[in-house]
Amino acid sequence: PKESVVGPLVGAVVQGTNSSRFLVFNSKTAELLSHHQVQLTQEFPKEGWVEQDPKEILQSVYECIERTCEKLNEVNIDISNIKAIGVSNQRETTLIWDKLTGEPLYNAVAWLDLRTQSTVENLSKKIPGNNNFVKSKTGLPLSTYFSAVKLRWILDNVSEVQKAIEEDRALFGTMDSWLIWNLTGGVNEGVHCTDVTNASRTMLFNIHSLEWDKELCDFFEIPMSILPNVCSSSEIYGLMKAGALEGVPISGCLGDQSAALVGQMCFQEGQAKNTYGTGCFLLCNTGRKCVFSEHGLLTTVAYKLGREKPAFYALEGSVAIAGAVIRWLKDNLGIIETSEEVEKLAEEAGTSYGCYFIPAFSGLYAPYWDPSARGIICGLTQFTNKSHIAFAALEAICFQTREIVDSMNRDCGIPLSHLQVDGKMTTNQILMQLQADILHIPVIKPSMPETTALGAAMAAGAAEGVGIWSLKPEDLSAVMMERVDPQIKATESEIRYSTWKKAVMKSMSWVT
Ligand code: ADP
Repeated sequence: PKESVVGPLVGAVVQGTNSSRFLVFNSKTAELLSHHQVQLTQEFPKEGWVEQDPKEILQSVYECIERTCEKLNEVNIDISNIKAIGVSNQRETTLIWDKLTGEPLYNAVAWLDLRTQSTVENLSKKIPGNNNFVKSKTGLPLSTYFSAVKLRWILDNVSEVQKAIEEDRALFGTMDSWLIWNLTGGVNEGVHCTDVTNASRTMLFNIHSLEWDKELCDFFEIPMSILPNVCSSSEIYGLMKAGALEGVPISGCLGDQSAALVGQMCFQEGQAKNTYGTGCFLLCNTGRKCVFSEHGLLTTVAYKLGREKPAFYALEGSVAIAGAVIRWLKDNLGIIETSEEVEKLAEEAGTSYGCYFIPAFSGLYAPYWDPSARGIICGLTQFTNKSHIAFAALEAICFQTREIVDSMNRDCGIPLSHLQVDGKMTTNQILMQLQADILHIPVIKPSMPETTALGAAMAAGAAEGVGIWSLKPEDLSAVMMERVDPQIKATESEIRYSTWKKAVMKSMSWVT
């Protein structure tokens, strides 16, 4: 066996929009020992619709677990050392299944999906005057983004679901609930639960009382009987019922962005991280109090690491399209063959040559919250080529981050002195340099970018009855950090940023 492998191990399921992964960490050193990843398909059945197949997702998770265990066996690491499993998942994505057959009753409606635009308009009309009780209870603006409106749409449009609800066969869940229910035995004995962080993204959950809210359920006309039981983010929910890890407790559950916050050890008020995946999400820990934004940010539950532990809250800036724009260059334009290749292509030009790319494919999230915005590429000339467009796509991710950092600074009153980043895209050096240039503050990234998985593993390993995760933030000071400093003048970044803002204005209110 490897010298470094001593003591118990913890596994983490990371179920994302783009892929599913399973990663195994040493709980004494936080060293990543092995992992496996499976890419997922996304279905776009109509303009603005984004769906995923719940069975494909479940299968991908099983495959990741089994393949990772095989890889560990191949290097003589005993998988019986895996003592706990954490789950971290794409948030808001909504599904509903039949508890008697285990079959999904409809595809999962993904967080990026825009079909509920008219549902949102109709619901807005029901909110009396300036009494924004939805926002004050949930911390969220009424938007296509959150589960309740997706669920309302499904109930209104899928007769099979209505029938299953009448016959008391329907269960609702976000991806964490679907996975945990299946992994703990499904039809016969599956545990139907979620954690406070995932619940806080449904728009049915009161973030102050930490319970499903009757008034919200009435407002959205959602029967409370289909909702999962809400737990903390770190406790034993149930045991794995099959496969190589049968019998291992599932004892951590966090929405992906909360998991990254934990994995980056942002436990102090004022600490923030930005994760680059399909979208981009900046969360700032606000401690045990809910802070409401004046600048388009969301208030959300950050984590609650144990049944008896207090909930911590975060301010969040959400960007819908970050890595997804790179996937679009690959899948829709075909100008790169892999996402990684974008770095080389952008490097060939080394500039966007005045080209600006607003990837508002799913409208614009923070700070604009404009569902009617659509993507534009502007500033084109005869000279513009695919390399400039690739560069502009990377810059777009950084400008969008700048918008939410600015909002965060205004809400918090104290500007961020540096940006802690993570996610697979942070291996892209050009992206990181552009980010430092456009923010004009240093960008700090851990050598191991999989902090989402680490956070889920930490929550699982620290749960009561497991108690094997002994790492404290100071132990992790050994984790290598890389620092990227701005290389351009502040005035230059301001000029580019103001041109970006001009382009954003052109993308807004595009569809009516
Ligand atoms: P999620 O957690 O949302 O599923 P991932 O962490 O799998 O997302 O991130 C994948 C996204 O990041 C994809 O959209 C992909 O196009 C993009 N991506 C991955 N690696 C790179 C890279 N080196 N450069 C640019 N984009 C990348």
